[in-house]
Amino acid sequence: MADQDQVNDDLEGLDVNMFDTDSDEEISNVHSQMANVQLQTPQRDQKPISSNITYPPRSTPLQDQQKQSEAFRQIMSQDGNSAFLLRAFYNRFFPYKTYFQWLNYDIAPTKNFSHREFSFTLKSDIYVRYNSFMDVEEFRKEIERFQPVKIDIGAVYSVMPKNKKSVAEKAFRPVEKELVFDIDMTDYDEIRTCCSGGDICKKCWQFMTVAIKVIDTSLDEDFGFKHRLWVYSGRRGVHCWVCDDRARKLDNESRKAIVNFLEVIKGGSEQSRKVNLGNSLHPSLARSLEIIKPYFGPLILNSQGVLDTPENWNKVLNTIPDAGVRERLNEMWSTDSLSSGQAKWQDLINVLDKSSDKQIFYKKEGWKISTIFQYCYPRLDDKVSINIGHLLKSPFCVHPKTQRVCVPIPITTCENFDPFSVPTLSSLINEFDAFSANNGPDDSERKLPDYKKTSLRPYIEFFEKFVQRLLLDAQRAKREEASVSMEF
Ligand SMILES: [Zn+2]
Repeated sequence: MADQDQVNDDLEGLDVNMFDTDSDEEISNVHSQMANVQLQTPQRDQKPISSNITYPPRSTPLQDQQKQSEAFRQIMSQDGNSAFLLRAFYNRFFPYKTYFQWLNYDIAPTKNFSHREFSFTLKSDIYVRYNSFMDVEEFRKEIERFQPVKIDIGAVYSVMPKNKKSVAEKAFRPVEKELVFDIDMTDYDEIRTCCSGGDICKKCWQFMTVAIKVIDTSLDEDFGFKHRLWVYSGRRGVHCWVCDDRARKLDNESRKAIVNFLEVIKGGSEQSRKVNLGNSLHPSLARSLEIIKPYFGPLILNSQGVLDTPENWNKVLNTIPDAGVRERLNEMWSTDSLSSGQAKWQDLINVLDKSSDKQIFYKKEGWKISTIFQYCYPRLDDKVSINIGHLLKSPFCVHPKTQRVCVPIPITTCENFDPFSVPTLSSLINEFDAFSANNGPDDSERKLPDYKKTSLRPYIEFFEKFVQRLLLDAQRAKREEASVSMEF
């Protein structure tokens, strides 16, 4: 971890655009907190912030555990202490070993891990960039010591990030990083009608399901990437980590080309029509259309009701080039505003079908497809994907606002993923306490890991399988490389 000078230097060089968008609120406080940094930054020789609170050892008799659980609750009720819960989370539940193997791409420590940037957000919005760790033990020790309220992952650099200051500026450069995608619900504000800003509900979460399906299919079928990890951001979005060797080595230009290929929605809020597709689609878009089309009726017309109010239906009508058609439909719906979204959509298709304007008639299929894309196709935050050095919130950290754990989302069950049922700091401790109360002390040789006593279990097991497949592939590639070099 950095010393005081390093912390101040890092804060001076902090680029708030380097973080993912789910963190806007937290980042907006950075500058206001800078003045206090010197007073608040923990030093190496200081005890951790919550050192006066002791967590029970990993195996204690049941009675003691219950007594201590009671003590925890008292502490929590005394100062509403989420720092305490976070400490328990890092001590008991964070999957250090698998996490290390994931970013290391091997069992024994490699540069993939030791040269990787980790950025920590400490209490009171203190940001410390360019942390790096030799191995899992050092990583664990420092996480448990500093209790970051947020961990961001950056690139693998040419030099260990913690030694950044000891080399010439040019010698310190990012060399590898997973290809990442950030999909944030705030980018759907102009089309969703149920919530806005940082809020989400089960209705609008469907947009994330559609986004995962479309982007994941394209990464698989168009680019052939095999190791794609989808993660809930903890609040209002999802991230994708593409971990194939080939993806990690992409330069910024290639990342940009992939994002351009995937992006369909273009233009700012002043532009009504953001998708302009013709009647014949690129095979990749034709496949995307098949994925998104089934959602248009249930999600856009029924659940979001985008044709239910004049304000919303005019957003749709404004994308039709013919003013006569727009006025006719607006009049029709104003006199019968209670007709269903499905019925209004049928009105719209009928009017376009009967249009005497040959151009409209000819273009109507393209307009229909473009509208389905505009309302259903994923909206990407391209900055996050294009810049190799961009930071992205780490899986398995806890969102500072919602207290939800950033858990992986299995692609096969993404349809059923419910962001509101994700484990939180307090639910995990409660589950753990309940397990201990029901099962008594665990003195067995093969002690059950603590995460297995909570609802975090399926998420960590899924992550373990993902990492196993990744390591197997990396080992296979290494063997092939070795046999090729033997032949020469
Ligand atoms: Zn909503």
